[in-house]
Amino acid sequence: RFIALEGGEGTGKSTQARLLGEALRQRGLEAVVTREPGGTEGAEAIRQLLLQPPGEGWGPRAEALLFAAARSDHVEKLIRPALKRGAWVICDRFVDSSRAYQGGAGALGDDAIVALHSVGSEGLRPDLTVLIEVVPETVASRLTARDGGESDAIGGRSADYHASVARSFRHLAERDPAGFVQIDGNGSAEQVHQRILSAIDTLTEK
Ligand code: C5P
Repeated sequence: RFIALEGGEGTGKSTQARLLGEALRQRGLEAVVTREPGGTEGAEAIRQLLLQPPGEGWGPRAEALLFAAARSDHVEKLIRPALKRGAWVICDRFVDSSRAYQGGAGALGDDAIVALHSVGSEGLRPDLTVLIEVVPETVASRLTARDGGESDAIGGRSADYHASVARSFRHLAERDPAGFVQIDGNGSAEQVHQRILSAIDTLTEK
């Protein structure tokens, strides 16, 4: 099974990926918890290029191609082999991040991102994409608590950009109710974890 956790920065994806991995292991399952961009040596190298762009920055097309290249390496070397041996893969961000950021907020359009994904990763889709949604005030206070506002993030993006990302994620989820589950990410990590576990349990019952 392949589960992707999606949402903007500060929505709690990384914490929830870790908690979900631990819960699955407690059930005796093999769970691989990984993240995007990254997850393999090659993809982590591309992550550094994305987070520390050259002085003139990346254009939206180059940025989308770098994300697709990182994902391709990650899928080929880590995700597909793990799925093949029957492990659960929990991925902190996957292609729907590119659809929301580069496709929606970055205005490249969904078709371009889907086309890149079909070339880069043969169109691999998670069995379920968990979209974690929190109110903007919670995001702001979580990011400040995490690192005083200096997050491990692509800087210089406006609040409008992040609002547009959140809208794009919501549209993707609403258009594909079978592929997505929308989770209320407000509240404690444990509360959100329980909501995600219930959603995963409906998947295993299918
Ligand atoms: O998930 P994480 O916060 O580690 O992501 C690192 C950075 O990459 C963030 O600034 C995130 O907004 C950005 N990102 C992006 N497009 C993606 C995936 C992540 O701009 N497709």
